[in-house]
Amino acid sequence: MNDSVEKQSNQSKAVLVINCGSSSVKFALIDLMREELLITGLAECVNSLDTLLTWKVGKDKFTKALPEATLVDCLGEVIKVLPSDVEVIAVGHRVVHGGEAFTSSVKIDADVLEGLERCSNLAPLHNPAHIAGMRASQKVFPKLPQVAVFDTAFHQTIPPHAYLYAVPYSWYTEQGVRRYGFHGTSHRYVAGETARRLGKPLGETSLIIAHLGNGCSACAIEAGQSADTTMGITPLEGLVMGTRSGDVDPSIHAFISKSLGWSLDRVMTALNTESGLLGISGQSNDMRTLVSAMEAGDDRAKLAIEVFAYRLAKAIMGLTAALSKLDAIVFTGGIGENSHQVRARALEHLRVLGVQVDHELNAQNGDAEQGRISKEGSLLCLVVETNEELMIARETLAIIAL
Ligand code: AMP
Repeated sequence: MNDSVEKQSNQSKAVLVINCGSSSVKFALIDLMREELLITGLAECVNSLDTLLTWKVGKDKFTKALPEATLVDCLGEVIKVLPSDVEVIAVGHRVVHGGEAFTSSVKIDADVLEGLERCSNLAPLHNPAHIAGMRASQKVFPKLPQVAVFDTAFHQTIPPHAYLYAVPYSWYTEQGVRRYGFHGTSHRYVAGETARRLGKPLGETSLIIAHLGNGCSACAIEAGQSADTTMGITPLEGLVMGTRSGDVDPSIHAFISKSLGWSLDRVMTALNTESGLLGISGQSNDMRTLVSAMEAGDDRAKLAIEVFAYRLAKAIMGLTAALSKLDAIVFTGGIGENSHQVRARALEHLRVLGVQVDHELNAQNGDAEQGRISKEGSLLCLVVETNEELMIARETLAIIAL
């Protein structure tokens, strides 16, 4: 019902935001005028007997079994659940890796799909799924413009001295080995929102943003541009995450391979899926579970949280090297927005920067005006909710308006 670009003046206009994984597709419909989320949903276990579509409108949740539905079938079902009084004017696709080829969002055409295929080796789990999602979406919404919004694009302003690894230079020139950074859509959205809350033009701000969700990265943003970030050629580098190790001594691979007889693939699986909060605690990758366990006296949960917080503080301190000044440290993502325990522990390590936590404001996830969690006179620390879907919708609108 929504695959129409015909104008009807009484209809509000929206962008459908799609995030395609290898066997799932997440979607969100964003009203452009009110910048409001109208519906979110997920099709999972695509191409299997268990294919299931779930969606949420306000607080109401719905599910529909779609056994053996393909990606095209699932997107066809998504059309049916979109509100009929809304005109979808474009589809925005979240793309994990744009390599060096994509420095900003682009309208999807044959050249873009080819460019994405060329950098698929950098994100072998994600990019082929995104490409499949784009092709399916073009079939289901043939009249709608489709836009790719990259997690990496925001970080293309990082200078060579920050993005190069000190490895043979030909690894960079011939294999594309460099730091790319991820979570760019979130960092960019939060930087804009922080500038608004500070009452300053974005171009006059210097910020460090910590996006702490299942994946975690911190970013130094100078005058609205990414100046350095913690993730690298893949999202494994940098901070401790739910199941990812973040930074390790690169010799760990050879050491474990020799001592346990593991293949390189086995070591990589351990670093990506058995490490981080889960690896240290031995029980969960979920911060809520770990905070409860710590409060109940579990030492390993406490240790996992302490390592997480210390490594975050250390990374924030390192990122100050990329900035001319520091106006605020900003927390976002599921953990950053909700866990006062993690924020307090990380900020305790940043007293050298002049940070003094206001524990009352921190416990309520920030004051009502700015999301401030620091005392008057302290370096400003804020909690700012991220909204990646809205940012993708804004980007999509900007690209189709060109
Ligand atoms: P995200 O990927 O942004 O959805 O974030 C997921 C992470 O946020 C998980 O580790 C959750 O445990 C964590 N999280 C969500 N709500 C809370 C909360 N109230 N307290 C602590 N962690 C939370």
